[in-house]
Amino acid sequence: MSCLFCKIIDGSIPSNRIYEDEECIAFADIHPQAPAHLLVVPRRHIGSLAEVAGEDTPLLGHLLAKSAEIARQRGLTKGYRTVINTGADGGQTVDHLHLHLLGGRHMVWPPG
Ligand code: AMP
Ligand code: ZN
Repeated sequence: MSCLFCKIIDGSIPSNRIYEDEECIAFADIHPQAPAHLLVVPRRHIGSLAEVAGEDTPLLGHLLAKSAEIARQRGLTKGYRTVINTGADGGQTVDHLHLHLLGGRHMVWPPG
């Protein structure tokens, strides 16, 4: 298995794990773009948001709801940004669905 995030999930590549449950894990991004930068990742390998199926709808809700919970736990009371990069134009570099949770600084819009 060659997927980087699958290796992080199975523990063969180390990560700074912040949260985990039966559906997903959250760990610190290795190149943080904000004071708080976590990745919320489903345990099951899904290549990208473009590859989700109808049966994945509850999982997508779970990833979002857990992101909000983690943001609350980390005290991001002034707000935060959740981002899913998809495909080449979306800037996706790791082909395992993941949600970025960024906070601790003011974000600009539109993103680059
Ligand atoms: P994306 O560009 O949306 O596919 O996001 C991939 C993210 O994974 C980037 O923000 C990288 O910094 C991050 N990343 C790459 N390798 C690792 C790693 N070993 N541990 C934690 N985060 C990583
Ligand atoms: Zn994977």
